[in-house]
Amino acid sequence: MDFAFSEREKSFRKEVEDFITRELPPDWTEKNIHWPGGYGTLTQFEELSPEVERFTRRLAEKGWLTISWPKEYGGAGLSHIEQAIFHERMSYHRAPGGDVATLIGGPTIMLFGSEGMKKEWLPRIARGETRFWLAYSEPNTGSDLASMQTRAVEDGDDLIIDGQKIWGTAAHVAHYAWMAVRTDTTAAPHKGISLIIVDNRSPGITIRPLVNICGLHSFNEVFFDNVRVPKRNIVGDMNKGWYYLMLALDFERLVSPIGGFRRTFEEILTYVRETRHSRHVVSRWPLIRNTLASIAIQIEVAYTFFWQAAWMLDRGLVPNIEASVLKLVTTELSQKLANTAMQVMGHRGQLTGASKWSALRGRVCSGYLDCISALVGAGTSEIQRNIIAIRGLGLPAK
Ligand SMILES: Cc1cc2nc3c(=O)[nH]c(=O)nc-3n(C[C@H](O)[C@H](O)[C@H](O)COP(=O)(O)OP(=O)(O)OC[C@H]3O[C@@H](n4cnc5c(N)ncnc54)[C@H](O)[C@@H]3O)c2cc1C
Repeated sequence: MDFAFSEREKSFRKEVEDFITRELPPDWTEKNIHWPGGYGTLTQFEELSPEVERFTRRLAEKGWLTISWPKEYGGAGLSHIEQAIFHERMSYHRAPGGDVATLIGGPTIMLFGSEGMKKEWLPRIARGETRFWLAYSEPNTGSDLASMQTRAVEDGDDLIIDGQKIWGTAAHVAHYAWMAVRTDTTAAPHKGISLIIVDNRSPGITIRPLVNICGLHSFNEVFFDNVRVPKRNIVGDMNKGWYYLMLALDFERLVSPIGGFRRTFEEILTYVRETRHSRHVVSRWPLIRNTLASIAIQIEVAYTFFWQAAWMLDRGLVPNIEASVLKLVTTELSQKLANTAMQVMGHRGQLTGASKWSALRGRVCSGYLDCISALVGAGTSEIQRNIIAIRGLGLPAK
């Protein structure tokens, strides 16, 4: 076991750091309001778009949107550890990069798509031309995903889709739905599901905004009324979607803004070192010191699972329990960090960035609201604990 980076990894880390410093607007990290572990709730898609588009194009030119993919599919052909190094540095600087297509859909297609599907979709995703949104949840289907009702019926070379999806993050700015549909109503719930890619421009699709707790339009409800989709857009085999979906959820749970935790923690440390209340600097308060020490430990635990997952992927293993643990540890860390920042910064934590008195440029205020979302998206904390208990500890499912 070696806890150090190789010389090649160190030099790649420096290359990434230099790239980010050169290509991101100079005040980006400071101004960006993202809270580590938040789940898209704070993304102001329209406002960020010009800078994000430019930065994304630069990443795509280097093959860095899809670092660990083979070069023949538009990737950089590097290792998963190198990909993890990249994401760690990117999230440390709160840099935009990666979406449902590059981080979830693409890797799933790589495992289960036909050669034709790989050639059709992966290079486009790697070039940053194709953005997906996740179409899983329905008004009556969340944790119990196998209960989904949106149906797809065969019609020649096509499927006809009818139903409704909800909580589709960024559906209004994406190009395609990465969608789970019921294709067999007679089979057991999880055996009649298929995974399919659906063009947002298809006739019969209506996308309606839902405004979230931060007052922003991140979610959507999406209606499908006789939507025709070619069968060649089905990922892998028809009716085997549940199996692919579980892997896609593992990929989703592995997406971690790990460096953002370190960055935000450093900013809180600076605050408690520099801020005085009464006659003392805040860092002298025992309660604050204890809490910060326990958060520091939690950050290191999260990093350990983060590197372990990359190490497993490099050996052809798909982290499953590890993905649930990483998701659980980081999202709970996100909330603990926000609660602590709010406690430490008091009134200043409750001000938005518009005020000169706000703490961390309003990030504490927005992060306090945003962090709630992370405990629910991609499977709630209770569901992650169920997975760990059943698959990790071998306890009975019921
Ligand atoms: C910020 C955010 C972004 C999202 N983005 C998307 C998206 O892009 N696409 C998409 O399809 N969906 C998305 N979702 C939806 C998300 O996947 C669901 O909200 C989630 O799966 C929970 O489903 P639910 O909200 O219906 O809650 P429910 O499933 O109704 O759960 C309610 C409560 O019951 C608990 N519970 C349920 N079942 C169990 C059980 N078996 N054991 C123990 N406790 C249980 C839950 O933990 C929860 O506390 C997003 C959600 C959020 C918050």
